[in-house]
Amino acid sequence: MLSTALKQSSRRPLVVANWKMNGNSQSNTELLFQFKRLWNGVHRAEVAICAPDVYLYQVAEILADSNVSSGAQDVSHYQSGAYTGETSASMLVDVGCHYVIIGHSERRDYFSEDSALVAEKFIQAQSAGLIPIFCVGESLACREQGAALEAIGQQLSTVVDAVGMNAFKQAVVAYEPIWAVGTGCIATPEQVQEVHHFIRERLVPVGDSLRILYGGSVKPANAAQIFALPDVDGALIGGASLNANDFYAICQAAEL
Ligand code: PEP
Repeated sequence: MLSTALKQSSRRPLVVANWKMNGNSQSNTELLFQFKRLWNGVHRAEVAICAPDVYLYQVAEILADSNVSSGAQDVSHYQSGAYTGETSASMLVDVGCHYVIIGHSERRDYFSEDSALVAEKFIQAQSAGLIPIFCVGESLACREQGAALEAIGQQLSTVVDAVGMNAFKQAVVAYEPIWAVGTGCIATPEQVQEVHHFIRERLVPVGDSLRILYGGSVKPANAAQIFALPDVDGALIGGASLNANDFYAICQAAEL
């Protein structure tokens, strides 16, 4: 059993909501006002909401008087121009985004994004001043074959080779085992800590200050155990971020 009793970290915890393709203007307003009422005052943990692009303006407006920042769930790998349907990094900055999720497993799986494309998005995001939340994670088959660390190492290497190690000083990494995202099946504390430690070691010399989030079926009932792990600096939350009380409970658990 992994001991989590003595966590001491100078890294500020970060909890990020990934709404995915959910919500509408009315439900967003209700959710955000409810959450803002709960999450008032000064907090050790930082919170960000990544909404669908069409609602980013609405989210930024509602959050303007709060200590919650906003982000996007994806960004174009192009800078600007004739790319119908794309949203550039500078447009995201223009509507108030601070963060952008890059390389989420749903984008990799359903939209065939490979690590090379993810690296291009990372570069676009940083050049516009956004902080990429760069997702890595292994499939169930990969874990069952004992190849999880190897797969994650490859995902990291492709991006590090393209952007350089120093780029990670202005980035966040999220470990999201694909088999745990949206499934209700969370990784064990031992699995999470092993991968987070591996990522931090791979990213020496910036690793010490790097925030590494866990994502995959985090709920109010299991958040505290995950946040207590020495190399976990917060979480990326899908399903539970659509309920203000649940999301608030998770954010509170991050206040270590
Ligand atoms: C996610 O979409 O990044 C995620 C972690 O989803 P869930 O919390 O629903 O597993």
